[in-house]
Amino acid sequence: MSFFKYKDVIEEGDLVFAFISRGTIKPITIKKGEKLNTRYGHYEHDDMIGMKFGEQMAGARGIGFIHLLHPSPELWTLSLPHRTQIVYTQDSSYIMQRLNVVSGTRVIEAGTGSASFSHSFARTIGYDGRLFTYEFHEPRYLEAKKELEEHNMKNTLITHRDVCNDGFEIANIPEGFVKDGGVSGEVVFLDLPSPWTAIPHLEKVISQTARVGICCFSPCIEQVDKTVKALQDEGWIEIEMVEVAGRRWEARKDMVKDVGDVVKRLKDIQSRKNQGIENKRHAKVQAGDKRDHDEMDSGSDDGAEKKVQNTGKGFNPFGKGVRVREGDEGFEWRNVTKVEGEIKSHTSYLTFAYKIPLPKV
Ligand code: SAM
Repeated sequence: MSFFKYKDVIEEGDLVFAFISRGTIKPITIKKGEKLNTRYGHYEHDDMIGMKFGEQMAGARGIGFIHLLHPSPELWTLSLPHRTQIVYTQDSSYIMQRLNVVSGTRVIEAGTGSASFSHSFARTIGYDGRLFTYEFHEPRYLEAKKELEEHNMKNTLITHRDVCNDGFEIANIPEGFVKDGGVSGEVVFLDLPSPWTAIPHLEKVISQTARVGICCFSPCIEQVDKTVKALQDEGWIEIEMVEVAGRRWEARKDMVKDVGDVVKRLKDIQSRKNQGIENKRHAKVQAGDKRDHDEMDSGSDDGAEKKVQNTGKGFNPFGKGVRVREGDEGFEWRNVTKVEGEIKSHTSYLTFAYKIPLPKV
């Protein structure tokens, strides 16, 4: 099992994302004899072994179903145990492409937090890249370390460190992680309360040969102010701030209506109203209430006509009546887009900047 490489068939020990409903995805590690209990029934791990990733699985008594999905950082972000605020895919994907993170990139990240972004970085940089991630909160560091090991993230080195006070240098970097005698990061991502205190420490760990990009993720504009100042003081250039506001766009068909439809609709409402009065009167007549019958009859000479009007089902494009499905033939439709409410993303300001190594003299 791996976040890096796809495989087809589920085996014991694999991490599987059980897609239970739109808002409920549960990561499970397949173990013989265990079962997944959900509100839509329970699912035996033994039955999952041998199934294909992506397959639908029926509940034990044929009630309900789930889908068994292959691990991906995107699914992990949606289902991970939250220890902190996290970076969502809307932001991480933008940052990744803007900083040109590709296979083989060397990334510095602080703090690790719930390791949501760490998973995305690790997958994108692949086997040849290296991720140096730092976390100063010990329980969080230990949790993240365990997860990264369980998820086989061999390209990632997590360090327990306060980067704002102690910087990013690592004393005994494992051999496979060293480049140019150290960390030599090409991309930096800071999701810290005070990134401006960490920025001065970066010079010692960033690449001295490649153009280095940085992104600082901060929820308040005051933090951005301080970050920009620190970046300028440290010689970073091309400083720009961006905010990603995620929205879902839906393509729909909207019925084209004209005045004739409005008139038809009003007539239809009136005719239904009259039909209701007529039915009531009929019921009363049946019950022998002659007096009411006479009173209601006076001035109402169009009942028979209305009855005729109401015998057909009649089409009503504006409300109740025959059910019309979007795109039904016989009506005119135009294609429109509809904006849904904002989707979940950790709304923060993203401050980008770059550093170009000075030629050695
Ligand atoms: N980006 C992470 C993710 O996607 O899961 C979330 C990061 S969380 C908002 C910020 C983390 O930074 C916290 O876990 C916190 O303990 C850590 N942190 C704060 N100050 C730090 C420092 N000076 N050095 C290292 N880690 C620090």
